[in-house]
Amino acid sequence: MNIHEYQGKQVLKQYGVSVPNGKVAYTVEEAVEAAKSLGSPVTVVKAQIHAGGRGKAGGVKVAKSLDEVRAYAEEILGKVLVTHQTGPAGKEVKRLLIEEGCDIRKEYYVGVVVDRDTGRVVMMASEEGGTEIEEVAAVTPEKIFKEVVDPAIGLQMFQARKLAYAINIPNEQVNKAAKFMVALYSAFVDKDCSIAEINPLVITGSGDVIALDAKLNFDSNALLRHKDILELRDLEEEDLKEIEASKYDLSYISLDGNIGCMVNGAGLAMATMDIIKYYGGEPANFLDVGGGATTEKVTEAFKIILSDEQVKGIFINIFGGIMRCDVIADGVVEAAKQLGLTRPLVVRLEGTNVELGKKILAESGLNIVSADSMADGAQKIVALVK
Ligand code: ADP
Ligand code: MG
Repeated sequence: MNIHEYQGKQVLKQYGVSVPNGKVAYTVEEAVEAAKSLGSPVTVVKAQIHAGGRGKAGGVKVAKSLDEVRAYAEEILGKVLVTHQTGPAGKEVKRLLIEEGCDIRKEYYVGVVVDRDTGRVVMMASEEGGTEIEEVAAVTPEKIFKEVVDPAIGLQMFQARKLAYAINIPNEQVNKAAKFMVALYSAFVDKDCSIAEINPLVITGSGDVIALDAKLNFDSNALLRHKDILELRDLEEEDLKEIEASKYDLSYISLDGNIGCMVNGAGLAMATMDIIKYYGGEPANFLDVGGGATTEKVTEAFKIILSDEQVKGIFINIFGGIMRCDVIADGVVEAAKQLGLTRPLVVRLEGTNVELGKKILAESGLNIVSADSMADGAQKIVALVK
């Protein structure tokens, strides 16, 4: 789960990570009031969306008066920001962070991630702050330094200092920067983060070390023990289809392709996406309806797929083990009748009650292409959407 920058900064503050003073605002009036109460000569108006790259897209503006705060708040609120992380559709700005302007001496990058290769938490740091770290990694990977953390003892001060020296933090600030990193690491572990990224971390004119941006992602499997974090969830930032799916306990992830998939079992769902790609198609989603899905669940799953306008065709691939093929068939027929089915549908059923399932589909009067195997089904749907 992702949260906004202003929320991330509040979380980090609890662990002793320095952040600028700031307030969230939902309206232009609130923005002006917030700037007044901060009383800083320079105020920054920052779009709050669940994506980075806001600065380049015009979502971060420096205001030198309350009039400028008002003008920028009017400009940014309601604007659809398109950044390298939002995709072409962009995201509408509904909240602003009104923050004290910071006298930046230099920008750095610090990030904490879970590293699959070492199976450990790794802290990364770079002198190339403020820019896209993906670009630094691609063009000048030697400018990114890493420390692998032993979970039994946590990030040690000597490791943090090593990183600070490696990225050329001035000597006078090395200890402050190292303390900052250790605090960031504690927040990461304590809150079960999957990413904690500070880009930029800055050294200010007066020699302070502060987080000017904050991106925190949380492991959703651990949210049950972090009620405070769960309260920060902003459903408006999440994919509507994924929210809908979670209500019915369906494992659904929206993807970029045009073939909607309905599958039972995560392994089969992965294999189905693979085989679609193998035959030259692109899946529009991952969807596991689960082992013991009911007709209602299948109907909802089908509705979610159909609500995606990118979907040009649907491939249902079911192996009826615990799940019965007739239940799937009933759900598909029910949903197709409720919503009208105008897009091609290929169904491959195998397993318990397969004959009954096929009969239900055949007698439904719906235009369904049946497939004998996964490969056959994948080839058929790829051909139909082309
Ligand atoms: P994003 O990563 O989405 O572009 P950031 O929060 O990193 O957004 O802001 C982009 C840039 O704007 C920063 O690299 C920094 O130069 C500047 N900036 C952000 N917040 C402040 C602030 N409070 N004071 C001064 N400059 C800021
Ligand atoms: Mg940033």
